[in-house]
Amino acid sequence: MSKQTLSFQAEVAQLLHLVTHSLYSNQEIFLRELISNASDACDKLRFEALNNNALYEDAPNLEVRVSFDKDAKTLTIQDNGIGMSQQEAIDHLGTIAKSGTKDFMGKLTGDQKADAQLIGQFGVGFYSGFIVADKITVESRRAGLKADEGVRWVSGGAGDFEVETITRAARGTSVILHLRDDAAEYLNAWKLKQVIGKYSDHISLPILMEKEEWKESEKEGEPGGMVKTGEWETVNKASALWTRPKKDITEEQYQEFYKAISHDHENPLTWAHNRVEGNTEYTQLLYIPAKAPFDLWNRDKKAGVKLYVKRVFIMDDAEALMPSYLRFVKGVIDSADLPLNVSRELLQESRDVRAIREGSTKRVLSMLEDLAKHDKHDAPAEGADGVTDVVSEEDKAKEGKYSAFYAEFGAVLKEGLGEDFANRERLAKLLRFASTTSDAVSVGFADYKARMKEGQEAIYYITADTLAAAKNSPQLEVFKKKGIEVLLMTDRVDEWALNYLHDFDGTPLQSVAKGAVDLGKLQDEAEKKAAEEAAEAFKPVLAKLKEALKDKAEDVRVTTRLVDSPACLVVQDDGMSTQLARMLKQAGQKAPETKPVLEVNAEHPLVKKLDGSVHFHDLAHILFDQALLAEGGLPDDPAAYVKRVNALLA
Ligand code: ADP
Repeated sequence: MSKQTLSFQAEVAQLLHLVTHSLYSNQEIFLRELISNASDACDKLRFEALNNNALYEDAPNLEVRVSFDKDAKTLTIQDNGIGMSQQEAIDHLGTIAKSGTKDFMGKLTGDQKADAQLIGQFGVGFYSGFIVADKITVESRRAGLKADEGVRWVSGGAGDFEVETITRAARGTSVILHLRDDAAEYLNAWKLKQVIGKYSDHISLPILMEKEEWKESEKEGEPGGMVKTGEWETVNKASALWTRPKKDITEEQYQEFYKAISHDHENPLTWAHNRVEGNTEYTQLLYIPAKAPFDLWNRDKKAGVKLYVKRVFIMDDAEALMPSYLRFVKGVIDSADLPLNVSRELLQESRDVRAIREGSTKRVLSMLEDLAKHDKHDAPAEGADGVTDVVSEEDKAKEGKYSAFYAEFGAVLKEGLGEDFANRERLAKLLRFASTTSDAVSVGFADYKARMKEGQEAIYYITADTLAAAKNSPQLEVFKKKGIEVLLMTDRVDEWALNYLHDFDGTPLQSVAKGAVDLGKLQDEAEKKAAEEAAEAFKPVLAKLKEALKDKAEDVRVTTRLVDSPACLVVQDDGMSTQLARMLKQAGQKAPETKPVLEVNAEHPLVKKLDGSVHFHDLAHILFDQALLAEGGLPDDPAAYVKRVNALLA
C-alpha cells in the first residue's frame, strides 16, 4: 500500500477538536490512556496466544517501553502486544466504534467547561495524545503478520490522517508523540516516572524506561547532564492491583485504578475488594461510579466488569458476571477455577460463573445497603444507656452518597425487581421515592411504613409523568384530606417495575389510580354511610352517564376518592395505567385498547348540575375529557371538547 490520505469519521474530527481545546487542565492523563491501550494490546495477545503460541514470535515477555528524545521532542510509548494490521489502524484510529457516539456528540454544547465534564464520561483513549502532541505517528505490526506488513499512521489531529505500509521487525505498536512546545516537561525521566507512578502503577505488565546517569561535561566550565545508559529498568510495581493485599493499597491507588479501567475522570463513590473462598475461588474488586456514563440507557451497552482467569485477561464485557440492572458497576473479577480458554458460550453455562455472579451481585447490594444506611445522620442521639453515639470519620464520609448514587442510577436499579427475583426484597429496601410529604426522592418503603396511619393497610402510590402531575392528581384528594402519605413515582420504569412487587414486608402496595378506592378502616362508619346514600341517590344519573359515555368509559361509578375535583379516571385493578398505555403508544408499541373507568364525585356542584340539565350530553363529555386532561392526556377529539366548553361559556 502506497501512502494514502484518509479523512477521519466526522465524530472523530469533532472529538479531536474538543480534546485539544478542553482537556488542558488535566494534560497528564494522556499517558494513562496510552499505557492502558498498550496494556490492553498485550492482554489481547496473551489471550489469542492461548490457542496459537506462535504469536509470541521470539518475544514472549510482554512489556511497555516509554522513551523520549529531547532533540526530536518526541515521546514514544511502545508495546509488544497484539499490534494492528493496516486495515485495523485505519478502522480503529480513524473511527469511533463505541455505540451511542452520535447521541453523545449531539449533547456537546460548545461550552468548554461543560463539554470537558462530558468528555470525561465518554473516555477519549488514544485521541488524548493530541492534548500534548501536534502530530502523532503510530507504527505497528500485528502479531502473526510478516515484517513487511507493518503500517505507519500519521496525523496532525485535524481532519485527516495518512497511512502507508512499512517494514517493522518488532511485533506490536509504537505511539510516537511529537510534543507541543508547552508539553516539553514530558521530555524528562523524573516527570514521566512520577506520572506513571500515579496512574499506571497497578498495570500488571512491566513498564520500562531507559536508565540515565549523571555525566560531567567534557568541556571545561559547562554543566553536566543526564545521559542514557542503554540499560532498561521497570518503573512500576507491575503486579495487578487486585492481587495485592488490601492493606498495601492506598485509597488513591484504588481510585486511580478505577479511573484507568473505567475511563471516568471522577472518583468512584465506593468500592469493595475481596477474596472469596469456598467452592468457587475468586477475587473481586468492584466499584460504584459517582456519575452515570453517557450510554447508560444504551441497550447493547457492554457490562463494566473485566474477567481475568489466574491474572490473565479473558474478556472485557463479561455480561455473564453481572446482571443487567447492575450494568453501571465497574471492576475486575479474577477467577482461580475457570479454564483459560473459556468462551462466551461456556461462560453462560458454567456453574462457577453462576456462583461468581451471585456472589458479586450480593456484594454490590451490600455496598449499596451500607451507603443507604449512612446516607443521612441525624444529630447523634443519646442512647438509653446515656452514651452518645459518635459518628466515625469513615461513616461521615458516606453521608449523602446514597442519594447521589440514587439520582444517577436509581432508575436502573429498579429494573432489578423484574430481573432478579432472588434479591427482590433486598432491592425493594433500596428503592427511594418522592412522596406527598417529601419532594426529595428519599422515602423508602420502610420509612413509609413507619409513618403509616393507625388502621392503614396498604402502601399507597401513584405513577405520573412528572412530579407536578403526580402531586396535583385528583386521585390524591381524599388521601391529602385524611393526611395519608402517598408515594409519588415519576420514573418511566416505575409502573413496569412495580408489577413485580406486590407487597413490602407483608404490606400490600396499592396504586391510588387503580381499582375502586378502599380506605378500609381509615374511613369511619358515618362517612361510609353518607357515601352509600349519595351513591344510591345518584343512581339514575349514573345510568344516563354510562349511556352517554359508553364509547369512552368502561364504567362510570361514584367515588369517595375525590374532594375538590368533579371526576377522575382510574383503571381496573388488573389494568394497565392510562399513563403507561400512552407511553407505549408514543414508543410505537402496541398497548391494549382498554377503556378507563370514570369516577365521579357526587358532592361536586358540577356533578350535581347534571341531574335534569338540558346540556347533559355535553357536560358528560366535558367531565370525561377534563379528567383525561388532568392526568396529562389529550381528549380524542380536542376540537369537539373546545366547542362544548365554549358553547357552555357563551
Ligand atoms: P478504546 O481503547 O476505548 O477502544 P481508543 O481510542 O483508545 O479507544 O483506541 C481505539 C482502538 O485502537 C482500540 O480499541 C484498539 O483496537 C486500537 N489500539 C489503540 N492503541 C493500541 C495499541 N497500543 N495496540 C493495538 N491496538 C491499539
